[in-house]
Amino acid sequence: MSWLTEFVRPKIRTLLGRQQEVPDNLWHQCPKCQQMIFHRELETAKKVCPHCGHHMRATAMERLAWTFDNGQYTRIDLPKVVADPLKFRDQKRYADRLKESRDATRQEDALLVAHGLVGGARAVVAAMNFDFMGGSMGAAVGEGLVAAARLAVLQAAPLIVYTASGGARMQEGAISLMQMPRTTIATQMVKEAGLPYIVVLTDPTTGGVTASFAMLGDIQIAEPNALIGFAGARVIEQTVREKLPEGFQRAEYLFAHGIIDMVVKRGELTATLARLIALTTENRRPAAA
Ligand SMILES: [Zn+2]
Repeated sequence: MSWLTEFVRPKIRTLLGRQQEVPDNLWHQCPKCQQMIFHRELETAKKVCPHCGHHMRATAMERLAWTFDNGQYTRIDLPKVVADPLKFRDQKRYADRLKESRDATRQEDALLVAHGLVGGARAVVAAMNFDFMGGSMGAAVGEGLVAAARLAVLQAAPLIVYTASGGARMQEGAISLMQMPRTTIATQMVKEAGLPYIVVLTDPTTGGVTASFAMLGDIQIAEPNALIGFAGARVIEQTVREKLPEGFQRAEYLFAHGIIDMVVKRGELTATLARLIALTTENRRPAAA
């Protein structure tokens, strides 16, 4: 290694890395109402449009920062899994897709797990990142969720999961499908320990994630207008040969039909979670002691 690779290159990398964090454009356009929003205003509003209330997609890092008291938490390392077990390739190699997503998100895979305080009470939070290959669930997400459930049991803390996913990671074939029963068992561990399992469904939550841990919460919360479903609306329409009703697969529709417990605006989400944790754990503590 010459001084060039050792000193010059890392520095260039840091500079490039920093550049990515500074937004090119300080104004964002709301994808729903097309109004312009100053980026700081959008940050304060937790990515909710101040004009029309549209909830924009958020990253796993943002979810963690918004959920824990004072934005303080400890992230845990998730178990390593076999990379690209099928040596899969479509238009691109799966290994390359993984690398691209890792570079873009600076995350190992589509799930982050952390613990800390929510409303003064201990909690474990797992958050999915849609930016990482559409939040798809492969072995890494499955392992991550099992680790989150184990941590919750170990700490006797509730488990909160933010979902955002296009479903199973098809590049891992049957291995990704195996994560459905695995994550189901993980949620069961939390329940058997008498701890609350709370799911926050965010836009979009579909496919194998909806068909497993995303729908098994003791309490099911969704963000306004979040798309939540298993198969896509067009596929269902073609199968049943019926026009689907207005707002089908949206949070409010699911709430009206009893599929979920509540639709909570992002600005009220942290307070709601804190209240739910207090309600579901305060009577349990003396009994457990
Ligand atoms: Zn808007």
